[in-house]
Amino acid sequence: MKKHNFSAGPCILPSSVLEKAASAVRNFNDDNLSLIEISHRSKPFVNVMERARELALEHLGLQNKGYKALFLQGGASLEFLMVAYNLLEKKAAYLNTGTWSSKAIKEAKHFGEMIEVGSSADANFNYIPKNYNIPTDVDYFHCTSNNTIFGTQLQSFPDVSIPMVCDMSSDIFSRVLDFSKFDLIYAGAQKNMGPAGTTLVVVKEEILGKVTRHIPSMLDYKVHISKDSMFNTPAVFPVYVSMLTLEWLKENGGVAAIETINNKKAALLYNEIDRNPLFKGFVANKEDRSKMNATFNLLEDGLKEQFDTLWNAAGINGLNGHRSVGGYRASMYNALPLESVQVLVDVMQELEKNA
Ligand code: PMP
Repeated sequence: MKKHNFSAGPCILPSSVLEKAASAVRNFNDDNLSLIEISHRSKPFVNVMERARELALEHLGLQNKGYKALFLQGGASLEFLMVAYNLLEKKAAYLNTGTWSSKAIKEAKHFGEMIEVGSSADANFNYIPKNYNIPTDVDYFHCTSNNTIFGTQLQSFPDVSIPMVCDMSSDIFSRVLDFSKFDLIYAGAQKNMGPAGTTLVVVKEEILGKVTRHIPSMLDYKVHISKDSMFNTPAVFPVYVSMLTLEWLKENGGVAAIETINNKKAALLYNEIDRNPLFKGFVANKEDRSKMNATFNLLEDGLKEQFDTLWNAAGINGLNGHRSVGGYRASMYNALPLESVQVLVDVMQELEKNA
């Protein structure tokens, strides 16, 4: 039986997607060739790339609004650099809400002046800074919508007159937002979309071409747009699996429908974390809690062995917290069924009964 996979990433994907992907690796499109042994310039794969790009924009409600979707390589980590390369002329404003924001800031500093408009580093990133001011004379504002390691999530985004860039690696396609507020969104595939190896970039074309520096071709969004995301050989398998997941999402009612289920999963687990006297949530304010990654601790270290034995025996995978936070982290991405969260809650209650 498949495990209850709470892994933070790479992580759970829908089983129907895995089955279709496995079959395409053996025989794609009934052509008696594998998906991973055909030319990326062949019609069948060009169709996959086009469909994946189209579905990404459709799920975000960004079709016909001047946005382009790209499937690039180098992970979200390369986007930390590419965003600054393509957009930072003089100065940029960043909100620092965790390890990934900090890494984005580090890369951007190579290109211009950096203004950290808010930071929760003072409390190991266990809250989302509020009431920060974003200067109007910066080239763009950058934020991270969901902090995978610490389990915090931005519930609202500022209204700005400059371009807004967001790293949505760990909550893209999980909730309805007005995505047209953003001018550039990027997300590594390996959470709500597909296997590691490709990164979705959705960019409003009009913000590009404003910096004076020379941008190397591979790092230039305009080059990738002009080549329909096929400037070089794309990561064919990750793009194909991403397309399958985006189709699965559409068949299941899209982002709004999955958000309803994600809300139920998060409520079920957080209610138990709050109710059960053996556990405590890591995030300081309830309103900052992530619906994707719930971080929590056992109040008594002595119960750790017993708890770990119980959840392992229940077929749960990937519950250990990130090394910089410790404790536990339950990642509840789109493909994780509500039943898996119930299994975890049952285990927490069993621990309480035995303790
Ligand atoms: N941003 C966020 C929010 C992430 O969770 C991660 C990785 N888990 C990254 C960036 C880095 O992504 P990658 O490993 O694809 O470079």
